[in-house]
Amino acid sequence: MSTDSTEHSTAEHRDAIVIGAGLSGICALYKLRELGLDTTVLEAAEDLGGTWFHNRYPGCRFDSESYTYCYTFSDELLAEWNWTEHFAPRGETLRYLNHVADKFDLRPHMRFGSRVDRCVWDEDTHTWRVELTDGTVYTTRYVIPAVGVLSSPVMPTIEGIDSFGGPWWHTYNWPHEPIDLAGKRVAVIGTGATAVQLIPELAKVVGELYVFQRRPNWCAPLHNREITPEEMADIKSRYDEIFAQCRITPGGFIHNPLRTPMFDVPEEERYAFFEELYASSGFRIWQGNYRDILMDEKANDEFTAFVANKIRERVNDPAVADKLIPTDHGFGTRRVPMETRYYEAYNQPNVHLIDINDTPIERVVPTGVQTAEQTYEVDLIVYATGFDAMTGTLDKIDFLGVDGAKLRDAWSYEPATYLGLQSLGFPNLIVLAGPQSGSGFTNFGRGVEETVDWVTALIAYMRDHGHTRIEPEAQAQEDWVRHVADMYDLLLLGKVRSWFTGFNSNIEGRDHVRHVVYNGGAPRYRKKLTEVVEQGYAGFQLS
Ligand code: NAP
Repeated sequence: MSTDSTEHSTAEHRDAIVIGAGLSGICALYKLRELGLDTTVLEAAEDLGGTWFHNRYPGCRFDSESYTYCYTFSDELLAEWNWTEHFAPRGETLRYLNHVADKFDLRPHMRFGSRVDRCVWDEDTHTWRVELTDGTVYTTRYVIPAVGVLSSPVMPTIEGIDSFGGPWWHTYNWPHEPIDLAGKRVAVIGTGATAVQLIPELAKVVGELYVFQRRPNWCAPLHNREITPEEMADIKSRYDEIFAQCRITPGGFIHNPLRTPMFDVPEEERYAFFEELYASSGFRIWQGNYRDILMDEKANDEFTAFVANKIRERVNDPAVADKLIPTDHGFGTRRVPMETRYYEAYNQPNVHLIDINDTPIERVVPTGVQTAEQTYEVDLIVYATGFDAMTGTLDKIDFLGVDGAKLRDAWSYEPATYLGLQSLGFPNLIVLAGPQSGSGFTNFGRGVEETVDWVTALIAYMRDHGHTRIEPEAQAQEDWVRHVADMYDLLLLGKVRSWFTGFNSNIEGRDHVRHVVYNGGAPRYRKKLTEVVEQGYAGFQLS
């Protein structure tokens, strides 16, 4: 550690400041320290873990296979860590991240309860001034936000929300202490991936559960199960093969889409495959399906109808089943929530589905939720209303770049980046899993580790060549933004409201597609990153 005694007499200096101690921040800290950089991670929460620290709602777990999400950088770590379930519950993932931090002695380089308010670029020294809410100031060569893509929870604007007499919270802020839910009357607002994990768990214990649904989603069975010691031994012996498989798939998962045109396959064979997919675990039904279903409306319609029938088979009351079947988008065009007995929960007499399109929520009252039809009296209200995805957390920090321009303003219509890593006018600000990056939209573990490797190599290159400043070229950024937009045009998801298209219906006033994710797939993104390096960091201005 050194102290900058010239311009910022009270500021401690670091080679790199990483913002966020989640999966990507921990990885960045490990790799940058290996490179010999004096690095500190600033984390607003009181401990590490990011997503897995915050999200404590019942049922929270992976829906990527546990053994594809973990870090690959240490053979010893891979050999010693045993996953207990194919899709690990959140507590296990949090234990894993803590284990990594302790094993590699990373914790002393993390500062908790440290919220970054403002980062100001200094063109004279090629450094950032990083200001924390508590008044602490650092200077640093590189600022590396690792703030996650789903870390700014969004509350709905419902009249009277504060007037509720009982407890209420967003799923992201589920309390850390145990909650006695037995026999309670609970309202859940929202039916996205979070609610779909939560609802079956609540249904098991609460007295009455009222689910307020606006748009249903196409959910599919997770088919989670325990990993036996023998299976874990087998997984360990095949880690190289598993990670190699993840490298060749668009989503970075073990599942690869079938490129055979769907309608070239005889109907009987197609439907046998659909059945196989529905019985498979994890995202295979989405990521290992015929590629056509994500691109071609006719193919999508056929598979969507197949899944609708599955929902009808699983829900006893046909009227309830109808309400649970989406009509405004096809399967796989929004994030597919992976479920465990979600549909069966609605067969329980204590679980009630309220379609707020029929009976809108008018207001929250001290005793519960009042719709156009009646007041549902409850003891607890849970808002599973999602996130200001991709840019929400970055927007909360004032990044003042060249000439004091604000990143938030530069991105107000839509983010503009080069490779999802940097933005024109914000030198030495390198975002991990940022908007338009290839890592934010794939199996997060795989995408993040690759990006961190690339960024670490970039910083090593800069150090070796005496460069102290990096910023994208305007043309390179423009080309990347256009390429990102073009990729949206290839997929049906480009037309559907969700956080994938940046105008999610949980945020009022967002009414245009913002090109926030990179839909080109991990191999294409990797190829681009490789070419950029081979051409001497083409598209970047280094000085
Ligand atoms: P989400 O998918 O955005 O769902 C939010 C839900 O709240 C939607 O059903 C939405 O309805 C509803 N909603 C929002 N505002 C509302 C309002 N004013 N009135 C009524 N309903 C309202 O959020 P999420 O479920 O938290 O999931 C977000 C992402 O987190 C997922 O897509 C996934 O990537 C990630 N996630 C991952 C896991 C995992 O890996 N295991 C688990 C959970 C979540 P509308 O659709 O009508 O807007």
